[in-house]
Amino acid sequence: MKCVICKHGELKPGVTSLLFEKNNSTIVIKGVPVDRCDNCGEIYVPDKTAEQIMSLLESVEGQGIIVDVRNFSSEISATC
Ligand SMILES: [Zn+2]
Repeated sequence: MKCVICKHGELKPGVTSLLFEKNNSTIVIKGVPVDRCDNCGEIYVPDKTAEQIMSLLESVEGQGIIVDVRNFSSEISATC
């Protein structure tokens, strides 16, 4: 699959950390499986992964968290 941003790079599987800010909460999710362009570094989050992140963010919402760091793989395996 080719990168749609630079149209030259190839997408390679990798992991990254993503930061989300929602209301007053800042959530960092580490170890998120993504596709990354080997040319420009653009990150693509697969649909299924994005859904899992959304449900994770919903689960921490309303807990009064200001800053939290989660590990993607352990969070997802814990909720399945
Ligand atoms: Zn690219």
